[in-house]
Amino acid sequence: MLDAGFLQRWMAAAAAAVEREADHLTELDSAIGDADHGANMRRGFAAVAAALDAEPQTTPGAVLVLAGRQLISTVGGASGPLYGTLLRRAGKALGDAAEVTPEALAEALGTGVAAVAQLGGATAGDKTMLDALEPGVAALARDGDFAAAARAAREGAAATVPMLARKGRASYLGERSVGHQDPGATSAAVLFAALAEVAS
Ligand code: ADP
Ligand code: MG
Ligand code: MG
Repeated sequence: MLDAGFLQRWMAAAAAAVEREADHLTELDSAIGDADHGANMRRGFAAVAAALDAEPQTTPGAVLVLAGRQLISTVGGASGPLYGTLLRRAGKALGDAAEVTPEALAEALGTGVAAVAQLGGATAGDKTMLDALEPGVAALARDGDFAAAARAAREGAAATVPMLARKGRASYLGERSVGHQDPGATSAAVLFAALAEVAS
Protein backbone atom coordinates (compact mmCIF):
# COMPACT_ATOMS: atom_id res chain seq x y z
CA MET A 1 0.00 0.00 0.00
CA LEU A 2 1.11 3.57 -0.73
CA ASP A 3 0.74 6.25 1.92
CA ALA A 4 1.14 10.04 1.92
CA GLY A 5 4.87 9.64 2.63
CA PHE A 6 5.30 7.59 -0.56
CA LEU A 7 3.58 10.27 -2.65
CA GLN A 8 5.66 12.99 -0.96
CA ARG A 9 8.83 11.03 -1.79
CA TRP A 10 7.63 10.77 -5.41
CA MET A 11 7.21 14.54 -5.64
CA ALA A 12 10.63 15.13 -4.02
CA ALA A 13 12.27 12.65 -6.42
CA ALA A 14 10.44 14.30 -9.32
CA ALA A 15 11.80 17.71 -8.30
CA ALA A 16 15.33 16.31 -8.12
CA ALA A 17 15.00 14.49 -11.46
CA VAL A 18 13.57 17.56 -13.19
CA GLU A 19 16.48 19.59 -11.80
CA ARG A 20 18.95 17.05 -13.29
CA GLU A 21 17.13 16.92 -16.64
CA ALA A 22 16.28 20.64 -16.96
CA ASP A 23 18.98 21.46 -19.50
CA HIS A 24 18.00 18.49 -21.66
CA LEU A 25 14.30 19.43 -21.53
CA THR A 26 15.12 23.00 -22.53
CA GLU A 27 17.33 21.76 -25.35
CA LEU A 28 14.43 19.67 -26.72
CA ASP A 29 12.09 22.67 -26.38
CA SER A 30 14.57 24.90 -28.21
CA ALA A 31 14.28 22.63 -31.27
CA ILE A 32 10.46 22.70 -31.55
CA GLY A 33 9.28 25.27 -29.00
CA ASP A 34 10.48 28.30 -27.08
CA ALA A 35 13.33 26.83 -25.01
CA ASP A 36 11.69 27.13 -21.61
CA HIS A 37 10.41 23.65 -20.75
CA GLY A 38 13.30 22.85 -18.41
CA ALA A 39 12.91 26.18 -16.61
CA ASN A 40 9.13 25.76 -16.39
CA MET A 41 9.39 22.27 -14.93
CA ARG A 42 12.18 23.26 -12.56
CA ARG A 43 10.25 26.24 -11.20
CA GLY A 44 7.05 24.21 -10.83
CA PHE A 45 8.51 21.17 -9.11
CA ALA A 46 10.76 23.27 -6.84
CA ALA A 47 7.54 24.98 -5.67
CA VAL A 48 5.86 21.58 -5.22
CA ALA A 49 8.75 20.25 -3.12
CA ALA A 50 8.89 23.43 -1.01
CA ALA A 51 5.13 23.43 -0.39
CA LEU A 52 5.14 19.77 0.67
CA ASP A 53 8.14 20.38 2.94
CA ALA A 54 6.40 23.31 4.59
CA GLU A 55 3.02 21.60 4.81
CA PRO A 56 3.32 17.80 4.84
CA GLN A 57 0.02 16.20 3.84
CA THR A 58 -1.59 13.21 5.53
CA THR A 59 -3.22 11.43 2.57
CA PRO A 60 -1.95 10.48 -0.93
CA GLY A 61 -4.83 12.45 -2.46
CA ALA A 62 -3.96 15.64 -0.56
CA VAL A 63 -0.29 15.38 -1.64
CA LEU A 64 -1.28 15.28 -5.31
CA VAL A 65 -3.91 18.03 -4.99
CA LEU A 66 -1.39 20.38 -3.34
CA ALA A 67 1.26 19.51 -5.94
CA GLY A 68 -1.15 20.15 -8.78
CA ARG A 69 -2.19 23.51 -7.35
CA GLN A 70 1.46 24.57 -7.06
CA LEU A 71 2.14 23.70 -10.70
CA ILE A 72 -0.91 25.62 -11.88
CA SER A 73 -0.01 28.72 -9.87
CA THR A 74 3.75 28.82 -10.51
CA VAL A 75 4.23 27.73 -14.14
CA GLY A 76 3.30 30.16 -16.88
CA GLY A 77 3.79 27.78 -19.82
CA ALA A 78 1.29 25.27 -21.19
CA SER A 79 2.87 22.47 -19.17
CA GLY A 80 1.93 24.04 -15.80
CA PRO A 81 -1.87 23.89 -16.12
CA LEU A 82 -1.60 20.52 -17.91
CA TYR A 83 0.58 18.76 -15.31
CA GLY A 84 -1.25 20.66 -12.58
CA THR A 85 -4.56 19.29 -13.84
CA LEU A 86 -3.09 15.78 -14.05
CA LEU A 87 -2.01 15.77 -10.39
CA ARG A 88 -4.96 17.71 -8.98
CA ARG A 89 -7.52 15.50 -10.69
CA ALA A 90 -5.64 12.33 -9.74
CA GLY A 91 -5.52 13.56 -6.14
CA LYS A 92 -9.24 14.27 -6.09
CA ALA A 93 -9.92 10.80 -7.52
CA LEU A 94 -8.01 9.24 -4.61
CA GLY A 95 -10.32 10.96 -2.12
CA ASP A 96 -9.28 10.87 1.54
CA ALA A 97 -7.95 7.30 1.77
CA ALA A 98 -4.90 7.07 4.04
CA GLU A 99 -3.33 4.35 1.84
CA VAL A 100 -3.92 3.30 -1.76
CA THR A 101 -2.84 0.37 -3.93
CA PRO A 102 -0.65 0.90 -7.02
CA GLU A 103 -3.71 -0.08 -9.07
CA ALA A 104 -5.81 2.64 -7.40
CA LEU A 105 -3.03 5.16 -8.08
CA ALA A 106 -2.99 4.03 -11.73
CA GLU A 107 -6.75 4.49 -11.98
CA ALA A 108 -6.54 7.95 -10.41
CA LEU A 109 -3.71 8.96 -12.74
CA GLY A 110 -5.87 7.70 -15.61
CA THR A 111 -8.60 10.13 -14.52
CA GLY A 112 -5.95 12.88 -14.48
CA VAL A 113 -4.69 11.97 -17.94
CA ALA A 114 -8.25 12.11 -19.32
CA ALA A 115 -8.59 15.60 -17.81
CA VAL A 116 -5.32 16.65 -19.50
CA ALA A 117 -6.63 15.38 -22.85
CA GLN A 118 -9.85 17.32 -22.35
CA LEU A 119 -8.11 20.53 -21.26
CA GLY A 120 -5.56 20.52 -24.09
CA GLY A 121 -7.74 18.92 -26.76
CA ALA A 122 -4.95 16.49 -27.70
CA THR A 123 -5.12 12.75 -28.31
CA ALA A 124 -2.49 10.04 -28.63
CA GLY A 125 -0.24 10.64 -31.62
CA ASP A 126 -0.41 14.44 -31.49
CA LYS A 127 3.20 14.57 -30.19
CA THR A 128 2.48 15.79 -26.66
CA MET A 129 2.99 14.68 -23.07
CA LEU A 130 -0.01 12.39 -23.57
CA ASP A 131 2.13 10.12 -25.75
CA ALA A 132 4.17 9.20 -22.66
CA LEU A 133 1.48 9.65 -19.99
CA GLU A 134 -1.02 7.28 -21.59
CA PRO A 135 1.31 4.27 -22.05
CA GLY A 136 2.86 4.87 -18.62
CA VAL A 137 -0.51 4.86 -16.85
CA ALA A 138 -1.74 1.91 -18.93
CA ALA A 139 1.30 -0.17 -17.96
CA LEU A 140 0.83 0.69 -14.29
CA ALA A 141 -2.87 -0.22 -14.45
CA ARG A 142 -2.06 -3.52 -16.17
CA ASP A 143 0.21 -4.97 -13.52
CA GLY A 144 0.92 -2.35 -10.84
CA ASP A 145 4.59 -2.45 -11.82
CA PHE A 146 6.30 0.94 -11.51
CA ALA A 147 9.41 -0.11 -13.45
CA ALA A 148 7.24 -1.29 -16.36
CA ALA A 149 5.35 2.01 -16.27
CA ALA A 150 8.60 3.98 -16.43
CA ARG A 151 9.77 1.87 -19.37
CA ALA A 152 6.47 2.34 -21.23
CA ALA A 153 6.57 6.11 -20.67
CA ARG A 154 10.18 6.31 -21.90
CA GLU A 155 9.27 4.31 -25.02
CA GLY A 156 6.24 6.55 -25.53
CA ALA A 157 8.45 9.63 -25.39
CA ALA A 158 10.91 8.11 -27.87
CA ALA A 159 8.01 7.29 -30.20
CA THR A 160 7.19 11.02 -30.51
CA VAL A 161 10.33 11.62 -32.63
CA PRO A 162 8.74 10.80 -36.02
CA MET A 163 5.39 12.36 -35.11
CA LEU A 164 4.00 15.59 -36.58
CA ALA A 165 3.00 17.96 -33.77
CA ARG A 166 -0.70 18.81 -33.78
CA LYS A 167 -0.98 20.69 -30.46
CA GLY A 168 1.00 23.34 -28.62
CA ARG A 169 3.81 25.52 -29.92
CA ALA A 170 5.48 22.70 -31.85
CA SER A 171 2.40 22.48 -34.08
CA TYR A 172 3.27 25.94 -35.50
CA LEU A 173 6.29 24.27 -37.15
CA GLY A 174 4.21 21.77 -39.11
CA GLU A 175 6.48 19.28 -40.93
CA ARG A 176 9.55 20.81 -39.26
CA SER A 177 8.42 19.33 -35.95
CA VAL A 178 9.14 15.84 -37.33
CA GLY A 179 12.43 14.31 -36.19
CA HIS A 180 12.51 15.80 -32.69
CA GLN A 181 11.45 14.27 -29.39
CA ASP A 182 8.63 16.12 -27.67
CA PRO A 183 9.81 17.98 -24.53
CA GLY A 184 6.59 17.34 -22.57
CA ALA A 185 6.56 13.62 -23.40
CA THR A 186 10.18 13.55 -22.22
CA SER A 187 9.36 15.24 -18.90
CA ALA A 188 6.43 12.86 -18.42
CA ALA A 189 8.89 9.97 -18.74
CA VAL A 190 11.12 11.70 -16.15
CA LEU A 191 8.15 11.82 -13.72
CA PHE A 192 7.48 8.10 -14.22
CA ALA A 193 11.19 7.33 -13.73
CA ALA A 194 11.06 9.21 -10.41
CA LEU A 195 8.02 7.14 -9.39
CA ALA A 196 9.84 3.89 -10.21
CA GLU A 197 12.86 5.14 -8.27
CA VAL A 198 10.90 5.70 -5.05
CA ALA A 199 9.04 2.39 -5.45
CA SER A 200 12.23 0.33 -5.80
P1 ADP B 1 5.03 26.32 -23.61
O1 ADP B 1 4.78 25.54 -24.87
O2 ADP B 1 3.87 27.18 -23.22
O3 ADP B 1 6.34 27.05 -23.64
P2 ADP B 1 6.28 24.18 -22.10
O4 ADP B 1 7.46 24.40 -22.98
O5 ADP B 1 6.55 24.16 -20.64
O6 ADP B 1 5.13 25.21 -22.40
O7 ADP B 1 5.61 22.77 -22.43
C1 ADP B 1 5.56 22.29 -23.75
C2 ADP B 1 4.98 20.89 -23.75
O8 ADP B 1 3.62 20.92 -23.33
C3 ADP B 1 4.95 20.23 -25.11
O9 ADP B 1 6.18 19.60 -25.40
C4 ADP B 1 3.80 19.26 -25.01
O10 ADP B 1 4.22 17.99 -24.53
C5 ADP B 1 2.91 19.88 -23.96
N1 ADP B 1 1.70 20.44 -24.56
C6 ADP B 1 1.57 21.62 -25.19
N2 ADP B 1 0.30 21.79 -25.60
C7 ADP B 1 -0.39 20.67 -25.23
C8 ADP B 1 -1.75 20.23 -25.35
N3 ADP B 1 -2.68 20.98 -25.96
N4 ADP B 1 -2.07 19.02 -24.85
C9 ADP B 1 -1.15 18.26 -24.22
N5 ADP B 1 0.14 18.62 -24.07
C10 ADP B 1 0.52 19.80 -24.56
MG1 MG C 1 8.12 25.97 -24.05
MG1 MG D 1 6.80 29.05 -23.03
